[in-house]
Amino acid sequence: MFLAKENRYEEMLYNRVGNSGLKLPAISLGLWHNFGDVDSLQNQREIIHGAFDMGITHFDLANNYGPPAGSAEINFGRILHEDLKGYRDELIISSKAGYYMWPGPYGEWGSKKNIVASCDQSLRRMNLDYVDIFYHHRPDFETPLEETAQALDLLVRQGKALYIGISNYDATRTKEIAQLFKQLGTPFIIHQPNYNMFDRWIEDGLLDVLEEEQLGAIVFSPLAQGLLTNRYLNGVPEDSRAHRSDSPFLSEDNVEKTIAIVRKLNAIAGERNQTLAEMALSWNLRQKQIASVLVGASRLTQLQDNVAALKNTLFSSDELAAIDNLLKQ
Ligand code: NDP
Repeated sequence: MFLAKENRYEEMLYNRVGNSGLKLPAISLGLWHNFGDVDSLQNQREIIHGAFDMGITHFDLANNYGPPAGSAEINFGRILHEDLKGYRDELIISSKAGYYMWPGPYGEWGSKKNIVASCDQSLRRMNLDYVDIFYHHRPDFETPLEETAQALDLLVRQGKALYIGISNYDATRTKEIAQLFKQLGTPFIIHQPNYNMFDRWIEDGLLDVLEEEQLGAIVFSPLAQGLLTNRYLNGVPEDSRAHRSDSPFLSEDNVEKTIAIVRKLNAIAGERNQTLAEMALSWNLRQKQIASVLVGASRLTQLQDNVAALKNTLFSSDELAAIDNLLKQ
């Protein structure tokens, strides 16, 4: 039986999401990779138990996480019910709809039909009555935005979600849906975009919109899927995501193209007495709109390293300038 550590809330920082009542841990855990049926359930348990013991109260899922799609929710639900059931009120669990999940015209995007059915499926897979945050996973330019907003609002009114978020929406679309949610009175509080040293698009308008609308952000792939860590400093390990993945966003080619800069960033991290992962996460958290960085982990030791980022989140202007200069190369 799992008994969480009594001192689990002592080290973690909890940041308010926009002007909502919700606080999230500065480091949250995402279950996109490493929690499917292809992965060891024992390792999944170890990571989830260890995360909660470090004060990580937030676990982020989506309908399609696995592989196979749906299996991360099933595995998480199983671990939750077998080990963490007594802790449900200490947890913030999120899921999402929008990417391809089932065949036919209703299995993806942003119609009311897709969003309501997908949320119901997610709740069944996790064996939950409600999720804490439900996201629209990506914008849909064919469905009227009003319909997507109304479908998400309905989930809250049905008691299936406490808060609403959006993901991968640009600044303009975010502003538009924020106005619709205001009219509906929806508890829309959070945006989930990608952000890391190699991909700074949110600095170009989205962060300003979040500030104006008093929304918070939780940023995904803050370590650029592992590039911004010590994982690839000496080559591409066989068990790494870059070796296993055929994704255009992370491949052995991406490692080769970025490794010279990564080594220089690693030297700056060393001068700060941090690992590169710690520095990359601290650097993300310097943006005041970012309540949480959403990391992935293939083993608990990575998560322990990531949480250590919180010991040093301040940057001198010289350090920030040195990082900016490197990233321009
Ligand atoms: P990260 O950028 O944190 O990458 C995680 C990977 O980096 C790990 O699997 C591991 O790679 C490596 N890693 C992590 N910590 C360390 C460390 N301390 N030292 C060495 N290597 C480390 O995030 P993800 O890309 O995994 O995304 C995180 C979450 O964001 C997802 O699980 C999901 O919840 C969410 N997400 C949302 C999306 C959206 O569209 N809304 C899209 C993508 C992600 P390895 O496996 O090789 O060991």
